Amino acid sequence: MSYNYKVFTKEMKKDYTILVPNMLPIHFKVLDKVLKDNGFNIEFLEDDVNEIIDEGLRNANNDICYPAMIVIGQFISALKSGKYDLDKTAVLMTQTGGGCRASNYIHLIRKALENSGFQDVPAIGLSVSGIEKHPGLKLSPTLIVKAFYGVLYSDLIMCLYNKIKPYEVNKNETDMVLEKEIKYLNNSLSIFNCFKVNKISKHIVKSFNNISINKTDKIKVGIVGEIYMKYSRMGNNHLEEFLIKENAEVVQSGLLDFINYCLINAIVDNKLYNKSKVKAILSKFAYKFILRQQNKINNTIKRYSSFDAPESFENVRKMADEYIGYGVKMGEGWLLVSNMIELIHQGANNIICAEPFGCLPNHIVGRGAIRKIMDKHPNANIVVIDYDPSQSKINQENRIKLMLSNANLNIYL
Ligand code: SF4
Repeated sequence: MSYNYKVFTKEMKKDYTILVPNMLPIHFKVLDKVLKDNGFNIEFLEDDVNEIIDEGLRNANNDICYPAMIVIGQFISALKSGKYDLDKTAVLMTQTGGGCRASNYIHLIRKALENSGFQDVPAIGLSVSGIEKHPGLKLSPTLIVKAFYGVLYSDLIMCLYNKIKPYEVNKNETDMVLEKEIKYLNNSLSIFNCFKVNKISKHIVKSFNNISINKTDKIKVGIVGEIYMKYSRMGNNHLEEFLIKENAEVVQSGLLDFINYCLINAIVDNKLYNKSKVKAILSKFAYKFILRQQNKINNTIKRYSSFDAPESFENVRKMADEYIGYGVKMGEGWLLVSNMIELIHQGANNIICAEPFGCLPNHIVGRGAIRKIMDKHPNANIVVIDYDPSQSKINQENRIKLMLSNANLNIYL
């Protein structure tokens, strides 16, 4: 099953629909256009119904981590829906190549496809390290460059949306600007334009800055945790919408910070375990390049808006120093700890740590570090919320409401 997988060929690329689970609504809308422009007929799966969890439970080992269960459920449920020509459909999942189960999803997906009678549907494992070879999925340098800038600008849009939405005066104005800016981005991401970071980010920042807001006192709540739980609406039961309804401002780091974390890990692998020096040098180069682009964006936020810009990732990285070693890099590893300290520095000391069932790495670094963080930062109000198929949404929301009422008390004490 691992080695005799069905290969996605060049011929398939022409007329196959490729199903991909949606994790970040803003980013994936931007990436959708980039991929379609390069000949990939991608469809991001948005469905968010209980049957998906049931399919996941039926088709995955019940001790597998919750994100794996959800994506398997989404694939099987989509294939069963009758919406797709099964002779012209493939499924795609990214693989980190790291030590946690994120590197094994693809094998679990293939097993689930086979057990459900979809063994002829190709399952594509996409990884930067090229664990699998699929000739139909060659990502051209142009596509990679456009996708990178797409993520950079999407991080900016997500950051501004989170800062403005809770304070908007005219209902849904922020959502309208969001849609407008995604359209603007889709038109701007040509290979000749995409790297004009100052110009594009200025347009986006100015558009969001024009939204009328009423800057009342609201509780800032940071979301950290396993990447899928942190961002996916289906995974975290629409956590962000819930927090906005509860009168809070959401603070979340962008997707590029996770990529920065992976790049640092490649450098650490070389230092600690004598792994590839070439990979470490290339990662260092890529890391510095990303930092420069992020700094340009942060300068634009400072110059053209009244909002605080995110901290440079290089400073965020160092925030983990006192708490955890850089060798702890399974799952979100040291990034989870850095993210929590960063939030506290930003004044978002109310933190939700979103933990999926079956995720040993993040339970260790998340729960494991909280005591030490709270010892050093007594004002931190951190709550771990577990996500699994048997957790009721009401219980999760009640725990978050308790955290919010503690946050309210802290304001008046
Ligand atoms: S980080 Fe945890 S939840 Fe995510 S893939 Fe790895 S084991 Fe699963």
